[in-house]
Amino acid sequence: MKEFPGSTGLSINEPLLWEKGKKGRNGFSLPRRDVEPCPLDDELTGEGPDFPDLSEIDVVRHYTRLSQWNFGVDTGMYPLGSCTMKYNPKTNERQAGTKGFAGAHPLLPETLSQGALRLMFELERFLAEITGMEAVTLQPAAGAHGEYVGMRLIYACHKNRGERRSKIIVPDTAHGTNPASASLCGYSAMPVKSNEKGILSPEAVDAVMDEDTAGIMVTNPNTIGLFEENIRKVAEIVHSKGGLVYADGANMNAVMGIVHMGRIGVDILHLNLHKTFSTPHGGGGPGSGPVCVRSHLKPFLPVPRVIEANGIYSLSEDLPESIGKVHAFYGNFGVMARAYSYIRSMGPEDLKKASQLAVLNANYIKESLRGIYHLPYDRPCMHECVFTDKVQESYGITTLDIAKRLMDYGFHPPTIYFPLVVHGALMIEPTETESKEDIDIFIEALKAIALEAKENPDLLRNAPHKCRVKRLDETTAARKPCLAG
Ligand SMILES: *Cc1c(COP(=O)(O)O)cnc(C)c1O
Repeated sequence: MKEFPGSTGLSINEPLLWEKGKKGRNGFSLPRRDVEPCPLDDELTGEGPDFPDLSEIDVVRHYTRLSQWNFGVDTGMYPLGSCTMKYNPKTNERQAGTKGFAGAHPLLPETLSQGALRLMFELERFLAEITGMEAVTLQPAAGAHGEYVGMRLIYACHKNRGERRSKIIVPDTAHGTNPASASLCGYSAMPVKSNEKGILSPEAVDAVMDEDTAGIMVTNPNTIGLFEENIRKVAEIVHSKGGLVYADGANMNAVMGIVHMGRIGVDILHLNLHKTFSTPHGGGGPGSGPVCVRSHLKPFLPVPRVIEANGIYSLSEDLPESIGKVHAFYGNFGVMARAYSYIRSMGPEDLKKASQLAVLNANYIKESLRGIYHLPYDRPCMHECVFTDKVQESYGITTLDIAKRLMDYGFHPPTIYFPLVVHGALMIEPTETESKEDIDIFIEALKAIALEAKENPDLLRNAPHKCRVKRLDETTAARKPCLAG
C-alpha cells in the first residue's frame, strides 16, 4: 500500500479569537510601575472596541493553525490545469527582494534607476528571444490585460492602414478570457469549432475569415493541452485577408526554446510571467502579462518604452503611433525581477528542459491512467492532459465526486468542468517541477479512486471525509459565503 500524503488527523480546529479570549488574560508583562498613574483623556478611556484578551501562545497558535489550513505548492502537488501551479525556486524571491529592487521607487530619476531600467531592457530582449518575436512591452499586469493590449494593437494596426474591422475569430478551445478581451475592445468574437482531433482545421478558419475580420486569437497550446498543428496554415489564411494572428502564450511553459512563435505566423503573443516565469500564480498578488510582437507592430506598443543609448538606459515617450499607457509607470516590477532571475539562473538549455519535462510529466500521467479514465482526445498532449468521468458515470460517479475524493488522498483537485468543450472534464497539469515519485503517488490515488467508484461509490459521493470541511452545498457556499470563519 502506498503512503498517501492525505490528512492524518493532526489538522487542528480553531475558534474565532473572540470565542477564545478570556477577560484579564494578556500576552505581555511590564515592569511594575514606579510613577504616579496619569489618567488619559476621557475619549481614550471610554468604552473601546471589544477586543478579546489573549495570551501570546493563544495568538501564536491561532495564526499558525489558520496558516495550516491553507494548501499551496509549498505544501503539495497542485495539478490545476491551465493554471501552471508550479514550484518557483526561492532564490528568485530573494533576488527580487534585494534592497535596491524592492525599495526602488518609480519616481526616482533615471540616473538612480539604471539597474532597474537595465533589468527591464534585458528582460524584454530575453522574452523576445525565448518566443521568437521582435519587441516586447512589460506593462500589462495580467494575461487578460495582455490580451486587451493585443486587441488594441490589432485595432491600431488596421487604423494605420485606414481600415476598421469588427470581428475576431476565437476557437472554442481558446481560454475564456480571449472572447472577453476581444469584446472589451469592441470586436465581436466569432466562435470556430475545433475538429475531432481537438485542434483548429484550416478549412473552418477559411470559412469565417473575411475582410471585416481583424484577426484570430489562438491559445497555443490550446486549453485541451494540444498543440495547434495547423497554426502555419491558419496564419496564412488570416494574413491573406489582411488579418493578424494573436497567440495566447500563457502556456509557454510547454514550448520554451522549442517553438519559434514568429516563424509559425504569430504577430502578437502574450506571456504570463506569473505562471511560467517564477511568480506564484494565484493568491491575488500582482502579475505580469508581457506582450511580444513582430517588428511591424512595434510602433504601436504602449509608452513609455525602455531604451538604451551608449550604455545609458532611459524611458522614452517618443512613439507617435503608440496606443498610449496601459499601466501606471511601467508595470509590476517585482514580477519582472523574479522572471529575470529565473531566466538568468536557468539559461537557454534548462528553460528548454523545463518545457520538455512539463510535457513528459503530463504524457506520463495520461498514459498511466489510460483505460481507467476516459480520454476524449487520445493523442500525445503538451503540458496538461484532459480526462472525463465517462467510465465512472455508469456507477453514478461524476467528475466532482472524483475531485472531492482526491482531497482525502492529500492532493489539490485538478481543474474540473473546463475546458467547456469537454463534457465532465478533469484537466491535469502536473508541471515540470513534480518528481516522478510524487507523480506516481498521485497516479496511485486516482487509480484507487477509480476502484472505489466501482466498489464503494457512496464513499465518493460523500467525499471528502478527512478534510476540515466536508461536502459543501456548493450553491449556498457560492451565493451566501460565510466569511466569519
Ligand atoms: C491563465 C490564462 C489566461 C489569463 O491570465 P490572467 O493573468 O489570469 O489574466 C489567459 N489564457 C490562458 C491560456 C491562461 O492559461
